[in-house]
Amino acid sequence: MISKRLLTIARCPDCGGALGANRLTAAACGACGRSFDGTAGYLDLRPKAVFDEQTRYLDESLHADARHERVSPPLLASGVRNDMLREFLRLGAADLVIDLGCGSGRSLVWNRDRGAYQVGVDVSPFFAHEALAGADLALGDLRKLPFADGVFTKGYALDVFEHLSREGLAGVLREASRVLQPGGQLFVYSHVRKNSRLALGLRFINWIAGLMHRVGAVDLTQEHLRKSDHLNPLVDLPDLERTVGEAGFRIARIRYYTPLVGGVVENIMVRSAEQWLARRAARRAARLANTGGPPKGDAGVTAAGSRAEYARAARSEAKDRIAHGGPVLLGLQALTMLMKIDVVLFGRVKSGPFFALLEKRAE
Ligand SMILES: [Zn+2]
Repeated sequence: MISKRLLTIARCPDCGGALGANRLTAAACGACGRSFDGTAGYLDLRPKAVFDEQTRYLDESLHADARHERVSPPLLASGVRNDMLREFLRLGAADLVIDLGCGSGRSLVWNRDRGAYQVGVDVSPFFAHEALAGADLALGDLRKLPFADGVFTKGYALDVFEHLSREGLAGVLREASRVLQPGGQLFVYSHVRKNSRLALGLRFINWIAGLMHRVGAVDLTQEHLRKSDHLNPLVDLPDLERTVGEAGFRIARIRYYTPLVGGVVENIMVRSAEQWLARRAARRAARLANTGGPPKGDAGVTAAGSRAEYARAARSEAKDRIAHGGPVLLGLQALTMLMKIDVVLFGRVKSGPFFALLEKRAE
């Protein structure tokens, strides 16, 4: 949606001018006159100048099903992340919040119950219907945020930093700091390159998952695609402290995340279940094809559709089951609780992945 409130805090990404309502396109800059399209339910506030550095998040294949499907509840790793976000940020009705790199906008949906006013910004327009219906969304570049100075009380950036170069990250942090009020807080989930020894356990789990991928017991294609554009700009924790410090932030709170239980649950158990569902979808499609035409052998099963299509069908079916509640949802909620053991047990062991609360220093 595009609320009046969004128009008051938004600024022209090119000249910084205030925006006014425009009957045809939704908004226009009062200073340079550029108009901004809002006909799709979100405001396109991308700057005219194109940055060289673009993440593969623009890749359609990563988001092919994001727009049309309902947002599932926060489960597994995203459930752990969202719980940490809520614990660290403590959003309330008085807050103005910005989700930096909001993706489909699911975090906005999950935290709507806190009553804060939330705005999501992303470079790509793969917003879920539910997010569009309940939050203000804008297309924009995180290195040139289309908002006035100091308008937000809080913000969050989940899985964003690792996709940026050092220069890109510095730019995003500067902009985040600019749009936050003094004392404003930014919750971050990302990682530095230096890991603890505990991470060896994680490497072992991933090695097993990799073996299972090779024999076809799990499918990690999506996982590999997701990590394929990680630039991992931060070396270690002192580097994190220095980098955020240069943008005017201090680390107010930090917890580390070594997902040993999480790795087994997500990379092995859940991926196996997904693969089982995908196989079943393939068999079903083959049976359907067989009833219509001449009987086919095993070759017919693979010819009926691509592996990716079945994986997508399986994910979609899993989402339907979750939406209906019942044992699948309860089971996943129980696994999510179990996965929080990683934060409880290893949260103080300095490691690569971290949850941090950055606070903008009052000048
Ligand atoms: Zn302008």
